[in-house]
Formats: sequence, structure tokens, C-alpha cells
Amino acid sequence: MQTVLILLGPPGAGKGTQAARLAGALSSPHVSTGDLFRENLGQGTELGQKAKQFMESGRLVPDALVIDMLFDRVAKSDCQAGYLLDGFPRTVAQAQALDARLSGATVRALNLSVADAALIERLTGRWTCKGCAHVHHERFSPPVKAGVCDKCGGSLYQRTDDSREVVEKRLSVYREQTRPVEAHYRARGVLADLDGSRTPDQVFSAMLAAAQGAQG
Ligand SMILES: [Zn+2]
Repeated sequence: MQTVLILLGPPGAGKGTQAARLAGALSSPHVSTGDLFRENLGQGTELGQKAKQFMESGRLVPDALVIDMLFDRVAKSDCQAGYLLDGFPRTVAQAQALDARLSGATVRALNLSVADAALIERLTGRWTCKGCAHVHHERFSPPVKAGVCDKCGGSLYQRTDDSREVVEKRLSVYREQTRPVEAHYRARGVLADLDGSRTPDQVFSAMLAAAQGAQG
């Protein structure tokens, strides 16, 4: 039976990092819809060209097209036993469309939760190097000399994405669109709630246990 792990969690919860680590530990492909978009657009596939038409005319790429890209990827042999899905679904409509396509699979949703105040601290404290793109954090990994990159001596700046205004907007979009996805999987009895405020190693162990629970 195919096991599909779905990772949920707000921006800043550490989902991407944990997903890559979990995929390695489980020898399961990490399928990120963000990466699929970049690959399909970059390689100019038929699906990529369709997506491009929507994007160029300023329209949202329809869910059905994203799902086509996803199932084009997971039809490959390395996903036969299962895979880890990151970045999708983001809305209840997407979750319902996904359910319809995954009728034979075991689905497990891992939900990383972190309080908003902690997410804001994590995301707004990031300072990126202009030279080498290394990221310092003013509290968790401050540079030795203020404003200067430890790795290359380049100057540090704050990306627009990491400004308080943008971070709060991203969190509010998450609350409105994606929180209901948690409820969707909870109602199906396949959601595991995980405390994402612990150390990365503790979070990883809890995620691994929850993921393996799904396989056993
Ligand atoms: Zn640097």
C-alpha cells in the first residue's frame, strides 16, 4: 500500500528543512509543489507551458493543473511505495481534489504548530548576506560583527519577505486558507499534531515516529 505523508504548518515552522530530513530517513521522495513548478517551467514541459500562460496573464494556476503536475511526478517508480508531499494542499478545495485522486493510498498528515509570536520572531530576525546569501538570525545565529556576514564579510540586509508586514500577511493568509485544511484531515482521523516549537532534533524525532506509525 502506498503511504502519502502530507506536511502542514505555517511559514517559519521549519517544514522544508524537516521534510528534506524526513525524506532521507524514510528513503521516500520529497515532492514539493514549488519545485515541481520550477522544474516544469524550466524544462518547458506541456504542463509547464500551460501554467506559464496563466501566470503571464496574471491569473492563478488552476488546482487541476497543479494536481496534474503532481501526479505526473508521483507516477514515477520511485514514488510507488509512497512519498512526502510539501506545499500542497493549501486549501480545502485542493485537499478534496487530492483525496479524490488518492483513493487507494494511506494518507497521514503531519501538522507542525508554532505560536504566531514565535514564528514572527523566527522570520523577522533573518538577515541575508548580499555577498554569499548566507542567512544570519539576530537572535539564533547572530554575526560576530553587527551587519557583517561571518562567512564572507559581505554586508547583511533584510529581505522584503522577512519584513514584519510581509510576515504578518503570510501568516494571515495561512490562517484563512490553510488552517481549515488541518480540520479537514483531523475530521478524517489522519492528522498528527506536532509541537514545532521544540528543537529541530526533537521535532524531527516526533515527525519520524508519527510517519512510521502510518506505515506500521
Ligand atoms: Zn556572506
